Amino acid sequence: MNDVVERIAEEPSEARVVHRADVAVVGGGPAGFAAAVAAARRGVKVALLERYPYLGGLASGGMVLVLDDMCNGPEVTVRGICQEMIDRLAKHGLAVYPPEEERTNDPAAYRKWSRWGVFDFNTHYKPHPICYAAAFDPDGWKRVSNDMVREAGVHLRLHSWFSRAIVRNNRVVGVVCESKGGREAIMGDVVIDATGDLDVAASAGAPHIAGAYIVTTVFRLGGVDTDEAERFQFEEPEAFAKVDRQAKRIMAGSWDYWWLKTPLPGIVWCNCPHMIGFDGINVEDLTRADFEGRDRIYALLDFVRAQMPGFAKAYVVDVAPQTGIRQTRLLEGEYVVTKEDVANRVHFKDSVARGRDYYTPYRAMVPRDIDQLLVAGRHYSATSAAQKMSREIPPCMAMGQAAGIAAALALDSGVDVRHVDVATVQRLVRDQGGDPGDVPAANATVA
Ligand SMILES: Cc1cc2nc3c(=O)[nH]c(=O)nc-3n(C[C@H](O)[C@H](O)[C@H](O)COP(=O)(O)OP(=O)(O)OC[C@H]3O[C@@H](n4cnc5c(N)ncnc54)[C@H](O)[C@@H]3O)c2cc1C
Repeated sequence: MNDVVERIAEEPSEARVVHRADVAVVGGGPAGFAAAVAAARRGVKVALLERYPYLGGLASGGMVLVLDDMCNGPEVTVRGICQEMIDRLAKHGLAVYPPEEERTNDPAAYRKWSRWGVFDFNTHYKPHPICYAAAFDPDGWKRVSNDMVREAGVHLRLHSWFSRAIVRNNRVVGVVCESKGGREAIMGDVVIDATGDLDVAASAGAPHIAGAYIVTTVFRLGGVDTDEAERFQFEEPEAFAKVDRQAKRIMAGSWDYWWLKTPLPGIVWCNCPHMIGFDGINVEDLTRADFEGRDRIYALLDFVRAQMPGFAKAYVVDVAPQTGIRQTRLLEGEYVVTKEDVANRVHFKDSVARGRDYYTPYRAMVPRDIDQLLVAGRHYSATSAAQKMSREIPPCMAMGQAAGIAAALALDSGVDVRHVDVATVQRLVRDQGGDPGDVPAANATVA
């Protein structure tokens, strides 16, 4: 954060109460969207608030275009609303994933599928095994989420920037959003913070820590001959390695596969350049990151057009409207998930969501000290190191689905969300097609 040199007192202000819901979800990214749909399907009145004019968060506006971390070997561990999203996208021709028989470590499968980004990047050998994961289109995500919130009867308020939690006697009773129409209050008996940056819980005074990780200005290139680019990679590996190394040097920060195919022919997404030293909730840092990222992107474009087979006619389609922020504030909730928990696949009795091979306890979504608030998504209660290993879109959706169900159950049974019956949450997650992780897999460490 900037050093504060001066402060001014603001006039006391009022907000117009524009809506009363049973459950108010703040943030329409993967976690918030899943929370809202899950709660509404349990029959409660749900309001979903989002600052941007579309749903999806990093999955659409951040153009993070592969759903991964959702299988433990051949077992698919994230189902429910996440799987429903994939099925609906696939019906529109906007999601691509390998069929079961091609999820192998056969080199031919790797050649066919690796540029879709659907391999297990947690293995330390190559070729990485092809696994269950899905490449998708960002606008398709927006379309499908609109369909799903409409069908579920969620009251969606886009263009609503959360600014303040309304807290009475340590209970969150609503939120204030800034909008073109002025300050608007949305009241909720339960509030779910799905802002990714813990905006609501921090405003409510819930204990949290400051996390940080690399920041990425994701972009897409069009006009790419992907067949030629893949031929070059697999048939001229030494020449490819040399050019690819130079491209990576120009970007100064990327994963091994810096471009991946998308369901749109000739358009690739580039999960790069990665940059360090930026705080994802600091306006000046975010502004500098945009300039720095774009400089690197245009330098890369010049290079690949001149040097990389398949990229001669490439052009920038778009730089993601949302900066690629992976980690900022993290909740210090009733339980804080550690790196060892994730790495050792520690199973918790109160697991309500799964990722790849790890489990999320309900307590990691419950703040200390503040009542009637749940936290779902990438800002959940984990150490910085643990979050880096467990923050992909599918597990965030699984957390969101569990939080939505828990919120509705708390209201139905007349208890605070802190005291909800977790065994019932687990059963209801299963009823909605999800996997709460109540049954430990064979490779789990039972706590
Ligand atoms: C560059 C990058 C690459 C990644 N690669 C992958 C990948 O390949 N596969 C994968 O599965 N995951 C990947 N991830 C991780 C994944 O994208 C995120 O962890 C995931 O999207 C988190 O979901 P979320 O709903 O918790 O948060 P977000 O996606 O951040 O959604 C938060 C939502 O809340 C809204 N919001 C925030 N603040 C406010 C406010 N004050 N008022 C109103 N609304 C607000 C935002 O606009 C947004 O819609 C990547 C992340 C990044 C940044």
